[in-house]
Amino acid sequence: MTTIVAETKEPPSSSSQAPSLRERICEVLKPTQEQWDDWKWHFRNRFNTVDKLAKVLPLTESQKRQLKLVSLKFPFSITPYYLSLIRTGDPYDPILLQSVPSFEELLNTDMGQPDPLHERVDSPVPGLVHRYPDRALFVITDICPLLCRHCTRKREWEGESWWIRTKPQLEAAIDYLRKTTAIRDVIISGGDPLTVDNAGLEWVLAQLRSISHIEIIRFGTRFPVVLPQRIDEGFCRIIDKYGPVWLNTHFNHPNEVTPEAARAVRELLRAGVPVNNQTVLLRGINDSVEIQLALSHALLKNRVRPYYLFHGDEVSGTEHLRTPVETGLKIIEGMRGHTSGLGVPTYVVDVAGGGGKIPLQPNYVLSWSEDEITLRNFEWKTFHYRNPRPTGPRPISVLAGV
Ligand SMILES: *Cc1c(COP(=O)(O)O)cnc(C)c1O
Ligand code: SF4
Repeated sequence: MTTIVAETKEPPSSSSQAPSLRERICEVLKPTQEQWDDWKWHFRNRFNTVDKLAKVLPLTESQKRQLKLVSLKFPFSITPYYLSLIRTGDPYDPILLQSVPSFEELLNTDMGQPDPLHERVDSPVPGLVHRYPDRALFVITDICPLLCRHCTRKREWEGESWWIRTKPQLEAAIDYLRKTTAIRDVIISGGDPLTVDNAGLEWVLAQLRSISHIEIIRFGTRFPVVLPQRIDEGFCRIIDKYGPVWLNTHFNHPNEVTPEAARAVRELLRAGVPVNNQTVLLRGINDSVEIQLALSHALLKNRVRPYYLFHGDEVSGTEHLRTPVETGLKIIEGMRGHTSGLGVPTYVVDVAGGGGKIPLQPNYVLSWSEDEITLRNFEWKTFHYRNPRPTGPRPISVLAGV
């Protein structure tokens, strides 16, 4: 296999020793402690214009011009909380790279597609993606407090015509779910569904819970990472009430696992909601074994299970953040066996054309016959393993039929 050298080698350094932006942001926005702890304050005060960003970051005229140009096509939006995690002075800061536009977003736009996963094609009703037999994705808004530069739904940003589904639209989707008895798992998604307030979410949850074949409900949300203040008492009360609810979130780098994020996770777990993580493999941000191990360990310490590692989707305006597939395989190779299996996510490629998620694994099987499999372990030691054949009739207990 060709060796692909990862571009992010340095292990994450502690954020405490670097100068923090938080003081500067607080000087400019002057929040009270109560406001800083209130997600709606962060949401209202998010940084989404170049002039506002220039108040807290020392931007040159040329940087401002570039940012303005990129944001005409791909707007940006950064919560004060997430912005405050940037360690200034580091051009490769993982928080900076995920939130502030790069000029490269305007290059290579022919390499991607606006809707590679065919989410529009696979929608029987607007807002519902039903690709897998027993589960469906329920997209209730396209708003996100933070616009991730690698976002798969970047196509939705053009024109900034943000929407939350109206009640009749939600009802049409819920009708489809009610009629389609094969669906036992609904993933409430977006955009970011937690943009909708607690009362709106409670209404959606109550509707879904009135459908008997829906066994579990999941949220797909990045709020615990980009605006953990959102995980408030009201939200925890309703997810507890309408359980079983699961929550998948999206940490990409250990610098995001802050005390605030840890608190949000703790509250979710206390409300009986298992928290799993979906990471996107991002060039120059988390494309090394070291960073992925550090991320997994930080998550496990907080009882968050690494679930998927996604290869970057083929989306216009994100080519500069994509890695070769070999990089992902090398990362899994460097994790499996070297750390707990609990910390190793499933690496998946979501293929263009609506084929869905396809898992990729390093190869551990060297040869295979009816009698024997030759395997290698994580240290590349080879083992011959007897391949059992059925030895008689179907197993039956001595006490059969009691
Ligand atoms: C990822 C995804 C799901 C959920 O997949 P799981 O493997 O069950 O987590 C469901 N629907 C769509 C369209 C998806 O992309
Ligand atoms: S939270 Fe998800 S949907 Fe929202 S911008 Fe980030 S990647 Fe896109």
